Amino acid sequence: MFRIFKNKAIYLLSTMLLIGALSYFKLDIQQLNSSRSSHDRSQVHEQFQQQINENEQLAWDLLTTSTQITKEQCLQRQQKNYPAHKILLQQNWRAKRSRYPKLKPETITFVQNVLRDFGIDPADVQIIPYKGKGSPAAADDCTIFIDETEFVHFSPEACKFFIAHEIAHLRAQDESIYESLCALKQTKRKKDAKKSKMAMQAFRRFQETRADMNALLDGGESYAQGAFDFMHKLQELDGGDNPGITHPKTSKRIEIAQNICSKMGWNVATA
Ligand SMILES: [Zn+2]
Repeated sequence: MFRIFKNKAIYLLSTMLLIGALSYFKLDIQQLNSSRSSHDRSQVHEQFQQQINENEQLAWDLLTTSTQITKEQCLQRQQKNYPAHKILLQQNWRAKRSRYPKLKPETITFVQNVLRDFGIDPADVQIIPYKGKGSPAAADDCTIFIDETEFVHFSPEACKFFIAHEIAHLRAQDESIYESLCALKQTKRKKDAKKSKMAMQAFRRFQETRADMNALLDGGESYAQGAFDFMHKLQELDGGDNPGITHPKTSKRIEIAQNICSKMGWNVATA
């Protein structure tokens, strides 16, 4: 009797020890995995950032060859004019805000929450209604424009993503850089007009690609599913790919997002 009890006690004790050891080991592995993957992810993030920088350099090189406008010239003009330009934009849009019906409070809260996710104080950004003609949102350097009638086409995840994309434009000051570029282009000779137009369009597409990439890289995994929801819906609404002039083709945008998600190891349905 005692022997059975003793065996049982030994059995119980060893089982408990084994479970303890296993859970300790499992915990240890989990910690190792999560620290390793976050390290890997920051390396992947860094690699994509380098790719963005290289693409930017290529876009500027093409522009300089075709239009003789350098990045330095453009940024100098943009930085000189931007503070005044920003005040003008704020005044203009404040005046134009009344043109369209007011945004629903829940739409404003939705956009403000995405701004907060990207570390931006919503008080620093104007959220203004507009008519997007198929585009649910747009941005300049200090404003997010929203056409909430377009929101019905997209899932909440997709809406989060396209707002994140606009935030990436706002942060990169894409609009005022492009405007400075257009203003400088006016002062140049009209020689090789076709070439310079193509270089301008390529630059615009670079800005669009960067906005997609930064929305994903800065937004993280919780923004990834929305990218695919949004782009697949775009293809559905457009009846296939867009012409790929002002924006890269949607299939190309999907490919870039898939690449980021697979290298980051994010768990999303990308098809
Ligand atoms: Zn865009």
